Amino acid sequence: MRKTKLVITVGPALLNGGPLKEVLEIADAVRINASHSTPEERTPFMNRVRELAEGLGRRIPIFLDLQGPKWRVGMMEPVELVEGSHGALYPAGSEAPTGHAWAVPLPHPELFRGAKVGQSWVLDDGNLALEVTEVRSGYIGAVVKVGGLLKSRKGVHPIGFDVAFDPITPKDLEDIKWGIEQGVDFFAQSFVRRAADVQALQATVRAFGGNQPIIAKIEHPQALDYLEEILACSWGVMVARGDLGVELGVEKVPSLQKHIIRMARQALKPVITATQMLESMIENPQPTRAEASDIANAIWDGTDAVMLSAESAAGKYPLEAVQWLARIAEDADDHVPPTSGRRADRLPETFTTRTDVSVAFAACRTAEELKAKLLLVFTEGGGSARMVSRLAGNTPVVGATTDEKNARRMGLLRGVKSLVVPRAEHLSDMVASMEPILKAEHDLKPGDRVVMTLGHPLWTAGSTNTLRVLSY
Ligand code: PGA
Ligand code: MN
Repeated sequence: MRKTKLVITVGPALLNGGPLKEVLEIADAVRINASHSTPEERTPFMNRVRELAEGLGRRIPIFLDLQGPKWRVGMMEPVELVEGSHGALYPAGSEAPTGHAWAVPLPHPELFRGAKVGQSWVLDDGNLALEVTEVRSGYIGAVVKVGGLLKSRKGVHPIGFDVAFDPITPKDLEDIKWGIEQGVDFFAQSFVRRAADVQALQATVRAFGGNQPIIAKIEHPQALDYLEEILACSWGVMVARGDLGVELGVEKVPSLQKHIIRMARQALKPVITATQMLESMIENPQPTRAEASDIANAIWDGTDAVMLSAESAAGKYPLEAVQWLARIAEDADDHVPPTSGRRADRLPETFTTRTDVSVAFAACRTAEELKAKLLLVFTEGGGSARMVSRLAGNTPVVGATTDEKNARRMGLLRGVKSLVVPRAEHLSDMVASMEPILKAEHDLKPGDRVVMTLGHPLWTAGSTNTLRVLSY
């Protein structure tokens, strides 16, 4: 049975007549990438996703991935950067300097403040490279070190760049407002460096009247030094392998992925592994063996979710890509090696004084001993379901809540199904009202056991203190 959750990025390949409905029958969560759309453009996407999910009877969380301080080249005709040729980077909106082999506009003033002769600038997520040869008032001169075709909006990464900048850009502010108006389920934050960046976003979301949790994307080198504090203040994290590879070197990605996932699991926080999971499927209907292996290994490292980017947003085979992702994830979930980091034998030290965490942990171990059919978690704020999903090992989890939004957020948690229940005063009434659904969806038979955790009194967030075993 597949337990790993699948995140797809929506984009032109799925909209305007693309197989969005078929994809939403399989995918568990949707990412809208704010980098590639304006609020006006994405409102119809969002409505369409919601309408289809509702029609399919699926609770699909949507997260808006904020561009953050990611630098990109401005709008221009595609230009061939020939290795060894000298060109100019100039402020977008001003006159292009003449007398150069090529000229590329940059819409980010801070880049002109931080440029220094001798710096290496990587373009297009690592496909092209420049070296800065002069810094003038109207432009930056550079020589092409690794050549290729450069198109509008491709990423710009000056390596070892040290200029102060605000973690939330004016574009982010517009996107945050839109996300709150539309009621997205999460915000993902790009290029987080420290906990303070996440706290700044959380405060901004609150100030605009939202209460969305934050998924911190780990892709900036500094974030690795402050991973613990970032994990402590975010809802979950993403291993953003694209920019991580550009910033730190592609060879570092596998060990960093394992490290980030391990740290997230220790902090009892969910983690999404992203980027190039099925890259070859942008062009081909079949994945490579290496891609299948990569997806399975991310799952065995302990990720909750795997994500598609261009494969689903702009590739030729978006439906095939999500079908393959599901197929590979299912097989990996069915064959988790005993040595994988999935199962915690002990509670991480930081949680041993917490009643709710200890009870959740005991419930997970009890469920294993009893070979329980499932873990039933009553969770008001969603925190207990998130915790149990980290500790459950292989037992399926049902997160029961009275809140539709909380239920939707569980869509990102490995092995967790959500259930919305009416608020009842007595536990027995509540269990009775859920019984038909549990029986139908989980095939409960006489002799089966369900391990339940709850907070007493019922429906107080963070109050889990009771473990009970139901026998059928
Ligand atoms: P992006 O983030 O697709 O928004 O750049 C993910 C990554 O960098 O891997
Ligand atoms: Mn990124």
